[in-house]
Amino acid sequence: MTQRILPTVVERPPAFIFREQRKSLFRRGGDFALHCEEIPLSKLAKRFGTPLYVYSATAVRERLATFQDAFRHVSHTICYSVKANSNINILRLLAREGCGFDVVSGGELERMLVADRRAAKKTVFSGVGKSRDEMTAALKAGILLFNVESESELWTLAECATRLRRTARVALRVNPDVAADTHPYISTGLRKHKFGVPIRDARELYAKASGARYLRVAGVSVHIGSQITDVAPFAEAVARVADLVRELRSDGHKIGYVDIGGGLGISYQDQSSDFDALVARYAHAVCNPLRGLDVHLLLEPGRAIIGPAGALLTSVVYTKQNDGKRFLVVDAAMNDLIRPSLYGAYHEVVPVAGPADSGVKMETVDVVGPICESGDFFARDRALPRLEENSLLAILDAGAYGMALASNYNTRPRPAEVLVSKKSVKLIRRREELRELYSAEL
Ligand SMILES: *Cc1c(COP(=O)(O)O)cnc(C)c1O
Repeated sequence: MTQRILPTVVERPPAFIFREQRKSLFRRGGDFALHCEEIPLSKLAKRFGTPLYVYSATAVRERLATFQDAFRHVSHTICYSVKANSNINILRLLAREGCGFDVVSGGELERMLVADRRAAKKTVFSGVGKSRDEMTAALKAGILLFNVESESELWTLAECATRLRRTARVALRVNPDVAADTHPYISTGLRKHKFGVPIRDARELYAKASGARYLRVAGVSVHIGSQITDVAPFAEAVARVADLVRELRSDGHKIGYVDIGGGLGISYQDQSSDFDALVARYAHAVCNPLRGLDVHLLLEPGRAIIGPAGALLTSVVYTKQNDGKRFLVVDAAMNDLIRPSLYGAYHEVVPVAGPADSGVKMETVDVVGPICESGDFFARDRALPRLEENSLLAILDAGAYGMALASNYNTRPRPAEVLVSKKSVKLIRRREELRELYSAEL
């Protein structure tokens, strides 16, 4: 159908695809244009401005379906990790597809309730520092499970539950002491990390928990980190959890749920990687140790569902040259997408329009934002076709931990967000206005 446009062309079907442009007077910038599903990104930039987060509903649905399909042979619930992208419209889309949620704060709990109140019964509450108010709100909402991370938290939960005379279903989040090959900030399953209770201490704590009138021991949970693309550490962690489940049952506890957390990674760089195959391998790896245990499996994927479904659209404000080094200064910045600055993360950056011929002149550039920090960059020493000021760029795989981690640093309003489904476009968060950023100070 179409020849490769440029050697560097990168796509994320079904979310972000280059399509041949119809010949028209208004065609600008090239023969191929990057689309979100059926909508040209240039059109979205014109209508909503930049920087702009753009998401594909079809990609979200398909990626969720990939998980549901891979786990179809076991009793399970997908509890999408809200912290990856907490836009209420994204949550609502997922709830409609049958998703539950994993929340880590009272704020995320409230977003879930606004998106779909009925999703509470499929929602789990994780986090090392749940406050009394947050626990009380979650108890009132009637959530499925509290993933408790310490003995102190257990007693606080018991107190809140007793006060409300409502039973809290409890899983202890165990720390399996399993190493996962990922960035140190997002690795969570080692003994030295703040998360969970040491798996060796778990039995004793379960015994204590089962004595509390308004606590009901119901499961075991584990989460070893994020952006993990090797399935072996998941298998190892789940194997340790399975052993614990057997011990707990022999102690007389009714363990109905195993929550294996999230953390399955995506390919930020390698285009040829097969997501369906990875999820299938993951399913195989984690289901194997649980065989015969007859538990209901809870999964908390975040990034794997929403990451490649979103991109950050930005415009080139200036091009400049410092001592032979070329910079594209764009209108998005580290406050909009902090992953490169915070984790040294790689994101593909692609021009939104491209010419058909492969003889196009390439140059090596740094793509940087306007913020007063050298850490404010999206790409370094990257080969891109020569771009003019006002050209559009798409930063791919920005759906997860993009907008969710955005801030107002430098008093910059956070971007607008749009959700595309085939030919339909919905503004799911309007751009912030400057006054909103300081009005609480007046
Ligand atoms: C962050 C987090 C997740 C989601 O991780 P992803 O890498 O986005 O899949 C799931 N569960 C818990 C407890 C988390 O903290």
